[in-house]
Amino acid sequence: MKYDVKSMCADEFISHEEILDTVKYAEEHKNDIELINKILEKAELRKGLSHREASVLLACDDEETVNRIYDLAEQIKKDFYGNRIVLFAPLYLSNYCVNGCLYCPYHLKNKHIPRKKLTQEEVKAEVIALQDMGHKRLAIEAGEDPVNNPIEYILDCIRTIYSIKHKNGAIRRVNVNIAATTVENYRKLRDAGIGTYILFQETYHKENYEYLHPTGPKHDYNYHTEAMDRAMEGGIDDVGLGVLFGLDNYAYEFAGLLMHAEHLEAVHGVGPHTISVPRVKRADDIDPNDFDNSLSDEMFCKIAACIRIAVPYTGMIISTRETKEVREKIIRLGVSQISGASRTSVGGYAEEERPHDTEQFDVSDNRTLDEVVNWLMRSDYIPSFCTACYREGRTGDRFMSLCKSGQIQNCCHPNALMTLKEFLMDYASEDTRKIGEAMIEKEIDNIGKEKVKEIVRERLVKIEQGDRDFRF
Ligand code: SAM
Repeated sequence: MKYDVKSMCADEFISHEEILDTVKYAEEHKNDIELINKILEKAELRKGLSHREASVLLACDDEETVNRIYDLAEQIKKDFYGNRIVLFAPLYLSNYCVNGCLYCPYHLKNKHIPRKKLTQEEVKAEVIALQDMGHKRLAIEAGEDPVNNPIEYILDCIRTIYSIKHKNGAIRRVNVNIAATTVENYRKLRDAGIGTYILFQETYHKENYEYLHPTGPKHDYNYHTEAMDRAMEGGIDDVGLGVLFGLDNYAYEFAGLLMHAEHLEAVHGVGPHTISVPRVKRADDIDPNDFDNSLSDEMFCKIAACIRIAVPYTGMIISTRETKEVREKIIRLGVSQISGASRTSVGGYAEEERPHDTEQFDVSDNRTLDEVVNWLMRSDYIPSFCTACYREGRTGDRFMSLCKSGQIQNCCHPNALMTLKEFLMDYASEDTRKIGEAMIEKEIDNIGKEKVKEIVRERLVKIEQGDRDFRF
C-alpha cells in the first residue's frame, strides 16, 4: 500500500511497505557514521526526527554512538521535563471482555478467572483507597464488552471518581484506557472531563495483529488503528499511543509507532500527548515466552532513548510491569510518567491482601506509593502529582506550543513542588517528609521568575495551614 502520512486509512498512514523499507534502510545505514552524525546533529536541535532517521539510530550498535544517543536522550529529557516524574495509578473497573486477544488473560475463553465489574459503591471504595495513598491521577481500564461495560457504565464511573472527596483527597485527572470506540462515544468521554484517551496499538503489524486478535471487535485492525483520529474528531485533544513490546519485531513496531505520531501531527496539527512502552508479562493463562519477540532490557532502554529523541514533546509512560531496576534506568533516558503502587486486579485497592485472581498482568514493582516517592527523591527526581494542564485548558496544540517554547516549565516545576508538598503533609512517612521538605527548599531556587518563587512560598505556607489544590 502506498504510504501517505495524511491518509485517514490505517493501511496508508501505517504502510507495511514503508515500515519494511524503513527497517531495511536502517539496517543498511546503521554503520554509516556520516549519516548518523547528521541525524544526531538534527536531533540536537530538539525538534524531533522522522521515523526513518530515528530507526537508523535504533539500529546502530556502535558503542560510542549508542552512548551519544543515551546522553542526548538524557539531556533532552532534562530540557523538556526537568527532573520531575508524574505519578499515577491504574484503576481496573471491569474484566468482562468479549475479545480473544492471545496475550491477555481477560480473553473470552479464559474460564478460570472470576469475572468482576465494580459497582459504583465499589468504585468509591477503590477511589478512597487510592486517595488515602496520595494519588491524584488515575488511568481507568476495562475490558471490551458492550453489554457489561457500555460507555454509560464508564461515564458513571468517571462521575463517581471525580465526585469523591475523602479527607484532603481528590482525583483530579482521569485518563481513560478503553477499547476503540465511535466518535460519538469519544465526545461523551470528552464531555465527562477526561484527561488523556489512551489506546495501545498492541502491534502495528496488520497480519500479526489479526492473528493475535482472532475474535471479537478488536479483530478489526483498521478500526483500532484509526481510533485516535476518531477520538480527536470527537474533541479529545490529548491521546496516548503505545505498543505492547514483545508481540512483534521491535524495529517494526518502533517505525510504526513514530509513523502514527507523524500522522496525528500531520492531520490534526498535534502529535500524541504520551507514548507508553509496555512489555508482555506473565498473567493468568499467559506465558510471555509464547511470543518469540521478547527484547532485552538493554534494547528496551534504547527504544525509550530513541523515542525521547524522536518526539521530544511527547510524555513517555512506564508502568509497574517493569522492575525497579529497569524503571531506574529508563526514567533517566526519557520517561516522564510512572505508575506507582498499582494493583491490576478489579477491586484490588480496597483489599488488604494483594489479590491475584483477576489481575491483568503480574506486577514487577510492588512498592508502596510512599516508597516510590522516597526512591524518586533519593535519585534526585521530583515526584509530581500535578494535574493542572488540562484543568487550565492547556491541551492539544496549546500544550504543545507551550512545551515547544519551553514556557511550560514555568508551570510544571512550581506545580510539582506544590503537589509534592500536599503529599508530604497528607500521606508521607516521616522519612519521606524529611527528604521531601529538603527537596522543595532546594528546588524553589530553580524557579526562574522571582515573582513565581514568591507566590510558591506563600502557597506552601497555605498548604501547611490546610489549603489544597493550588496551580499555575
Ligand atoms: N480493553 C481495552 C483495549 O482493548 O484497549 C483496554 C486496555 S487493557 C485493560 C490494557 C492494556 O494492557 C492492553 O491494551 C494491553 O496492551 C495490555 N496487556 C494485556 N495483556 C497484557 C499482558 N499479558 N502483559 C502486559 N500487558 C498486557
